[in-house]
Amino acid sequence: MVRPKKSLGQHFLTDPLIISDIIDALDPKPGESILEIGPGEGVLTIPLINSGANIIAIELDRRLAPMLEAEFKKRENLKVFEADILAVDPAEFGLEKFALIGNLPYNITSPILGWLLKYNSLITRAVLMMQKEVAIRIVATKGKARSSITVLISIFYDCKLECDVPPESFTPPPKVDSAVVRFDRHRRTYDIEDYDRFEKFVRLCFAGKRKTLLNNLNSAYPLTRDEILEIIKNICGEGQIRAEQIDLETFILLSKEIFARL
Ligand code: SAH
Repeated sequence: MVRPKKSLGQHFLTDPLIISDIIDALDPKPGESILEIGPGEGVLTIPLINSGANIIAIELDRRLAPMLEAEFKKRENLKVFEADILAVDPAEFGLEKFALIGNLPYNITSPILGWLLKYNSLITRAVLMMQKEVAIRIVATKGKARSSITVLISIFYDCKLECDVPPESFTPPPKVDSAVVRFDRHRRTYDIEDYDRFEKFVRLCFAGKRKTLLNNLNSAYPLTRDEILEIIKNICGEGQIRAEQIDLETFILLSKEIFARL
């Protein structure tokens, strides 16, 4: 085993039951394209190769990428690239539709989720291990755990918590609990004209976690407090509501009303 690098979020999964849970959750099919983020020493990569799917593995560690490459050089359905996933454009690998898998480096979970959103039209489903705290936010349908990432991911994916994973399942153990989330690209479409502008809007709605929607929007947009209050009351039925209490459709209605008045 290579000496794990903290800076690359390296915690190698060692529990065989969790490994097979993750593979079962993805359910790889022969011939389909699968992109793996951070294969490390290949605990997920090996069963993926054996499924007959075509695997593209993106590994940033310059010690690990050539090791994997050498170990599986006879397996035609694996390609390993030494690269930063955040700088990868799937089109460069000739990927059209693909499934995504990875035990994520936790220091960049949020940017990787941003990457998933950016390429959502290509990613049919994903199974990702992450810190439990983030997993809980992603799958939250109600209450305080909801955040901007919950809302943004729900534009494209239905998400499910597959399993919890304790620190002892890894070497070295991470300081936090982990969980595996499955993302399924759904077919619902929402009336969002400008995704980037909407994303910014949702993030602003959650900017001050303890603030009401009114206070968050009031500090973000050049409208009077009364104007914003009136919009919120019209759409939500009450003025003192928080971002975590409203659903995606309501965010869309609110954003349209606010953008129309700017
Ligand atoms: N999949 C392995 C390793 C998980 S640890 C296992 O389950 O055991 C996270 C992995 O992501 C490490 O191999 C680390 O080197 C890799 N990694 C870290 N940052 C990365 C990045 N920006 N792009 C691609 N891989 C990265």
